[in-house]
Amino acid sequence: MSLQADVDQLAEYCAQAAGLGVTELAITEHCSRFCQFDQLLRGWWDSDGSLARRSEMAKCWDEELGGDLDQYVETVLAAKVAGLPVVVGLEVDYFPDRMDEVATLLGNYPFDVLLGSVHWIGAWLFDALEWVRAQEQWSTRGVDRVWDDYTRSIEELAACGAVDVLAHPDLAKVAGHRPEIPDEFYDRIAEAARSSGLAAELNSSGWRKPCAEAYPAPALLSRFHDHGIPITTASDGHELDHVSWRVADRGPLARSAGYSEVSAFRDRVRTTLPL
Ligand SMILES: [Zn+2]
Repeated sequence: MSLQADVDQLAEYCAQAAGLGVTELAITEHCSRFCQFDQLLRGWWDSDGSLARRSEMAKCWDEELGGDLDQYVETVLAAKVAGLPVVVGLEVDYFPDRMDEVATLLGNYPFDVLLGSVHWIGAWLFDALEWVRAQEQWSTRGVDRVWDDYTRSIEELAACGAVDVLAHPDLAKVAGHRPEIPDEFYDRIAEAARSSGLAAELNSSGWRKPCAEAYPAPALLSRFHDHGIPITTASDGHELDHVSWRVADRGPLARSAGYSEVSAFRDRVRTTLPL
């Protein structure tokens, strides 16, 4: 698409958001779609012990690939110049032992906000709900072990300092598998965000998934509040109809956890707005 067509598409997203009372959108494409990340990280999955999973990961990585980070950033900046209420963001996955290189690459671009997320444990894409083999891993590994591995990745991601906000902080519940006693995991996730000065996302997309609940769960959101962790809001829209989806349901959830304000970012600096 041409730059103008891309800006026009962002204008449509902004119009959709404005119709629902949302005044600013962070554009946060997944980092793994960009060739610059491919050049840096290709083969990161090689340390996974399963050949089948490594091949599946390589195939999935190639299918998602195709964007150019320079062009992406240029498009969002052009949208800003055109007066659209957007900020330049990116969703950055956690790549064990590679985050220093990732941070160096990110430092070359004028991002307003960087989300950090965990979608993989080793090369297992645990939120690939439609992959039967991937979903079988829940019973092979056991729910508590998966949550422990997920939480450790969140702790390492938070500590690496490369991102500003924890995206969908309890994504490990996506397929509907929750630990019987989640408290230890919630405490660790909240402490990871607090000790690294991160904000956390209140993300409505969980309502579209088998977990049927926003991220984070109310009990985790309350812990975030008690730990003094600021929140941002997100709908994780991958298509026009999902932009600002269920925005009206997020406010009451945040308020019931004790929040009266939300955060926004410019040049990776946080500011607050009334909820
Ligand atoms: Zn994500």
